Amino acid sequence: MDKTGGCLCGAVRYRTTGDLRPVVYCHCGQCRRTGGHFGAFTSVAEGALALTEAGGLAWFESSPGVRRGFCRDCGSSLFWQRVGNGRISVAAGTLDDDSGLVAAGHIFAQDKGGYYAIDDGLPVFDESSGGVLPESGTAGG
Ligand SMILES: [Zn+2]
Repeated sequence: MDKTGGCLCGAVRYRTTGDLRPVVYCHCGQCRRTGGHFGAFTSVAEGALALTEAGGLAWFESSPGVRRGFCRDCGSSLFWQRVGNGRISVAAGTLDDDSGLVAAGHIFAQDKGGYYAIDDGLPVFDESSGGVLPESGTAGG
C-alpha cells in the first residue's frame, strides 16, 4: 500500500511503496531531543522511498554513520538512516495516513524521560532489542 507524507510546511514530501515496517518506539536521548519526545519510526527499503519534494530537506549526522533528515524550513524531523544499510526509517507522525500501521515495541527504555510511563503492553527493551524487534539500528532501522 503506497503512502505519502511530509513535513509541516510542505518543503519535504515523500511517497513510500510497499508495506511499512511496524513502528518501533525509541526512547534514546537523541530521538527525544530531535523529536521533542520519544521517537516513533517505521521503515522501508531505501528504494521504496521517493522524495517528491526535497527543497527543505537537510541532514544532520547524529552519530558516526547515522544521519537524521529534517526540514530546514519548518524543523520537522522526518528520517533516520544508518548510511549504507539499505533502509530508511520514517517518522510515523509524518505520514498523511497511517492506517494499517501497527507498533512493535520500545527500545532504549533505560533512557526514557521520567515524565511518562511505558504501559501499552508492548515489549520493552533497555537498549536495542538485539534483533527481537524489527529494528536495524538505534532508531529502529
Ligand atoms: Zn517543512
